[in-house]
Formats: sequence, C-alpha cells, structure tokens
Amino acid sequence: MSTEFDYDLFVIGAGSGGVRAARIAASKGKRVAIAEDRYLGGTCVNVGCVPKKLFVYSSQFPEMVHASQGFGWNPSGEAVLDWPRLRDRKTDEIHRLNGIYQRLIDNSGAILYDGRATVLGPNQVSVNGQIHTAETILVATGGWPFIPDFPGSEHVVSSNEMFFLDQLPKTAVVVGGGYIAVEFAGILNGLGVQTHLVYRGTRLLKSFDAEMSNKVTQGMIQKGVNIHLNTKVTNIQKTGDGLEINFSDHTAMSADLVLYATGRVAATKNLGLENTKIVVRSDGSIPIDNNFCTQEPTIYALGDVIDRVQLTPVAIQEAMVLVDHLYGDKRAFIDYENIPTAVFCQPELATVGLSEEAALKTYGDISVYTSDFKPMLQTLGGGDDRISMKLIVDKASDKVIGCHMVGDHAAEIIQGIGIAIKAGATKADFDATIGIHPSAAEEFVTMREATR
Ligand code: NDP
Repeated sequence: MSTEFDYDLFVIGAGSGGVRAARIAASKGKRVAIAEDRYLGGTCVNVGCVPKKLFVYSSQFPEMVHASQGFGWNPSGEAVLDWPRLRDRKTDEIHRLNGIYQRLIDNSGAILYDGRATVLGPNQVSVNGQIHTAETILVATGGWPFIPDFPGSEHVVSSNEMFFLDQLPKTAVVVGGGYIAVEFAGILNGLGVQTHLVYRGTRLLKSFDAEMSNKVTQGMIQKGVNIHLNTKVTNIQKTGDGLEINFSDHTAMSADLVLYATGRVAATKNLGLENTKIVVRSDGSIPIDNNFCTQEPTIYALGDVIDRVQLTPVAIQEAMVLVDHLYGDKRAFIDYENIPTAVFCQPELATVGLSEEAALKTYGDISVYTSDFKPMLQTLGGGDDRISMKLIVDKASDKVIGCHMVGDHAAEIIQGIGIAIKAGATKADFDATIGIHPSAAEEFVTMREATR
C-alpha cells in the first residue's frame, strides 16, 4: 500500500462496473474512493435494464388479462393504464435500489464523492474543486445515448427520457433496429400506444441469428407494432399538436413522440483525458490492453466506456478480473466467447453462442435443429404467440455451438443452457438430458431430427 497517494484506487463512475471494482478493492483492504455525479448504479439501475424490465412487465398485463378469460376468469371493467402511477412506482423502486448501492459502497469502506470527477494527470483527480491523488485511477463512466444530428433532432427523446415522461403518447415513432428500439417498441405497444418502429436497414436485430430475428419481427407485427424497414428519417417538424416526421421516400407521419434508439457512445467528454497519454477512439471509447490498462499505465478503464460488449454483467465481470489483476493472484479472467444475452422485446429473444450464419462461416459443416410451437398458455388463452427454438451443432465434434430462443421466458431458459454450452456440451449430452414436463424448455432436449 502506497502512502504517497491519498488512495490506492480512485474509481470514476458508480455504475455496475465501477461500484463492483470499488467494493471488491475496498474489501481487500485497499483505500478506495469512488466519484459519481448523477445516480448510483449507473445506466442499468436508473435508465436501463431495471426500469425497462419493470415497464416490460407492465406492458404484458393486457395480454395476460385477455388470456385469463380462456382459463375461466371474467375480468370485469375496462383496464386503464395509470401511467403516472407506473412511472412513479418505478422511480420509487429505483430510489430503493440507489439506497442499496449507497449502503454497499459505505459498508465496503470506500469513500463516495458526490460530484463530477476530472482527471488532472496520471495520478490526480479533482471532484468539486478538491484534488485527490491515487496510485491507480479507474474510468468506469459508461455510455450515453447517441442521437444523430439532423433537422429536427432537437424534438426527439432518447431512452433516458422515456422513464420520466409526463404523459404517455398516443402515437410514437421509435427509430433504430437494435436492443433498445425493439424493447421500447414492445413496451409502448403493450401499454396501448400506437407504435411505429422505423429502421434504416433490412432486418431488425441484425447481429442476431437471422431466422430468429425474423421471428421477432413477425411476432412484433402480430402484436400490433407497425414496422417500417429500409426507412430513413430526413427531418422532423413540430406541428400544433405533435411532430411531423418526414422520410427519405417522401412519405410523412405524425406522432406525439419520437424516440431515437440509435446506439450508445462512450461517456468520455470533459473527463480530462487530454491531461493523460490516453487517446480515445473516434467514437470516444477508451482503448485498453488485455488487463484493462489504458495508454496511461496508472489509468484503467472497463465497462461501456471501453465499448467491447455493452452489457451490465460483462462490466461486472471485467471489474472482478481487474481487481484480481491489481490486488489479487491474477488468476481471474473474462472470456468474451459464448456470452448469453437476451433482448426483452415482445416476443422475447435470447441467445448464446453462434448464429447459424456465423456457425456456417466458422465451422462449415453444421447441423441445425429447430422447433416452432404454440406454448400451452396459448391453447386455452387463445393467443397467437409461438415459441421458436434452435440448436446449432458442429458436426465434427458434436458440440452445441449456438442456441437461440424466441418466446416467453427465453432469457430465463437460455441462462441455464449458457452453462451447458460454456462447459462444452455436445448434442449427445442434450439428448441424454431428461426433459422437465410439461415445459417449453424441454424441447431443447427432445429435438432429434436435424432440420438441415
Ligand atoms: P444498438 O447498437 O443495439 O442499435 C443501434 C441501432 O441504431 C442500430 O439498429 C443502428 O442501425 C441504428 N442506428 C445507428 N445510427 C443510426 C442513424 N444515424 N440513423 C438511424 N439509425 C441508426 O444500440 P442500442 O441503442 O439499441 O443499445 C445500445 C447497447 O446497449 C446495445 O448494443 C446493448 O449492448 C445494450 N443494451 C442491452 C440490453 C439487454 O441486454 N437486454 C438492452 C438495451 C441495451 P444499423 O444496424 O443500420 O447500424
């Protein structure tokens, strides 16, 4: 422990990765400080994963109420959404989580500074005009929504604002084709908003298995989302009672709200990195080596700000690995292969391993097993939702190299299968596993005939 500095570790940003690094380092007896100027818990807790999932739950109740009739219930009266109640109850829950984060930091012994930190040099940080020195600095400032500059872009909102709207729009346009766009299109549609999803490309969720992302698109259309592919917004004008959105094919549409979900960029502006040897990439993200060290040997970075994989559990794992590297036995590692991930669109999509397209490129000789069926809830419930599953197997080794699911509980199911794939399970292992009956998940261990 160096006494030359005020702290062993100064963490900038109290999001998922920063808090984890600060807590674990402090628990190892290190003198740790962490600075945050916005909210404890970062994007995930405040304007991301957590409030989003609460909204997803809310948006699914109308379908459940409808299905309940087939199961003998007579829901009486008209179901009306009280948006302010949903929004404020969500905010209360987030405040509760902020409190938990505060306690976690306090109990770990790390010192929390409420203010914006600026890097003054390789070992110096200032917060609220006070200068602190640290042997090591960790930048974990996360990301921020990116909105392209175009005529009328000042009229649009990002996902940040969606969690605090004064009122729910009657009509909304969501621009983008990635995680956030499809998730919010599903939420808005489920909450009763007439929803248009506008994407400039040919296929939503283009980084996912094509067959599965097409199933998501079909499912979203069936649930009532109006999807416009190959469509670009040229400009947006404010009208008397809303917004007019003009498209490159000279068509136009009016809406009360336009959400741009067009990616997130690393939050490195005004961080003082020019006072160091760090040269950020053109998108603002910080380059690092295999140990999360930047071009400045005393400064490390992890999470969304390094723009490797923008996922909360990845940032947390990166924090564990970094603390082990700095203060442990250096045995922890992070494997970026086979990261399970889910998109909480409706229908839900979850996946681990390679898409069919990527598997074909990498392995060439593969077998693909597919299953598409109506889940039990829909039989009496009278809905049209389906479940689609897909296993991709490397023929030479029999290893399952990709697993994909669209439909209810996809995230919950794929999390378990992620372990099997991480452990190198073969198709024979899947076949030897007894199913849980009746469940949708059992289909993953009963697919016997390859589809192709
Ligand atoms: P994504 O990168 O997933 O998607 C961005 C979308 O915006 C793409 O469809 C892209 O189109 C489009 N786009 C980019 N620039 C423009 C532009 N100038 N005009 C029109 N469209 C544009 O970003 P998101 O914002 O959806 O999410 C950010 C990240 O956050 C995700 O990648 C994910 O890592 C994480 N996240 C994870 C969630 C989860 O785990 N469930 C949930 C939400 C976010 P194109 O494809 O043509 O480039």
